[in-house]
Amino acid sequence: MTVKKNTIITIDGPSGAGKSTIAKLLASTAGYTYIDSGAIYRSIAYAYKIRKDGESLEELLHNLPVTFEFGENTRVTLSGEDISEEIRTPDISLLASRLSQQVPVREYANATQRRLAADRNSVLEGRDTGSVVFPDADIKFYLDARPDERANRRHTELASKGRGQEFHTVRQEMDKRDANDSTRAVAPLVIPDGAIVVDTTGKDIEGVLRIILNHIKKRDSQRK
Ligand code: C5P
Repeated sequence: MTVKKNTIITIDGPSGAGKSTIAKLLASTAGYTYIDSGAIYRSIAYAYKIRKDGESLEELLHNLPVTFEFGENTRVTLSGEDISEEIRTPDISLLASRLSQQVPVREYANATQRRLAADRNSVLEGRDTGSVVFPDADIKFYLDARPDERANRRHTELASKGRGQEFHTVRQEMDKRDANDSTRAVAPLVIPDGAIVVDTTGKDIEGVLRIILNHIKKRDSQRK
């Protein structure tokens, strides 16, 4: 008897490439579990920011009391307190990017993703979900777009959440995070082996989703 294993789809790419929107839509269209790996890095950053005096990163990560409920509006709690909004601020974005260079942080985040996706059809989005966390994923995508367009989307997203900033500040923050994420020694942002690259510049959500679904259909028919 062959046991059918769960299907894993990964979507990586820099910020503002459209990963979250597409990953959520794809997961709800396919009835898959959506996993936002960035929220894991962000919750570690938030916990680190408010850690007790003298607490080391290793101590903090040992039994970190966080819970995740991924979906249209991801809910994250720390020690039972809802921190879903707090983890989305620009200073937590930068701190997450800085801490994500630390091996214990990446190990914690990788183990969390593997645990959450175990035995479940899942769509994971992040920076290394296809290159490191699930190198044997069933299908991998890498989303990218021109930097100005990515900054524009991030600018609009922040404004819509009442956290508007000047465009040039958003662009600067994004460039800094891109540089951190692409040049770090551990698990830098790369196009994973075998990933399908989708340039989302000038495309709307429906257009990108269509491209992705077509690739999945093609892959499924090749496997039959
Ligand atoms: O995707 P999001 O902007 O929420 O991620 C916040 C930060 O967490 C990123 O800038 C990156 O440094 C880090 N991250 C990572 N690997 C992932 C997901 C996020 O290093 N798989």
